Amino acid sequence: MFRIGHGYDVHKLVEERKLILGGIEIPHTHGLLGHSDADVLIHAVMDAMLGALALGDIGHLFPDTDEKYKGADSMKLFEEVCRVCREKGYEIGNIDATVIAQAPKLAPHIEKMRENIARVAGCDVSQISVKATTEEKLGFTGEKLGISAHSVALMKRI
Ligand code: ZN
Repeated sequence: MFRIGHGYDVHKLVEERKLILGGIEIPHTHGLLGHSDADVLIHAVMDAMLGALALGDIGHLFPDTDEKYKGADSMKLFEEVCRVCREKGYEIGNIDATVIAQAPKLAPHIEKMRENIARVAGCDVSQISVKATTEEKLGFTGEKLGISAHSVALMKRI
């Protein structure tokens, strides 16, 4: 009836890239580097969903050697992951995700991210939890070298 999965992702912060989190562009001096738009939150969420169904990870589904995914909108990839899960007979029960970033402040953007994710997944916003924290200036997130994200996904049979 239910299956649970976990996802984790990290991207490096660099100059002259847009910062995209949860499908929205957040004004900041730096952005995340990656083959796609490097939306670390959505990547962790997708890995949690795929993990729940033992379908591997997003690197398996969308190889970064494939030019098709260069600069890809991660929300489009997320839409595809939702489709694949439905095809396997599962949809999101609920998602709980945490973004770890020293800067910028993410609190003002959290609701928009939740709405975005729920809209694409075709579920209620109450099923999608996004939280943000810092690591108290410790480690690579604390030193603003990168942003990481964790997610768990509970998938339920349709
Ligand atoms: Zn990623």
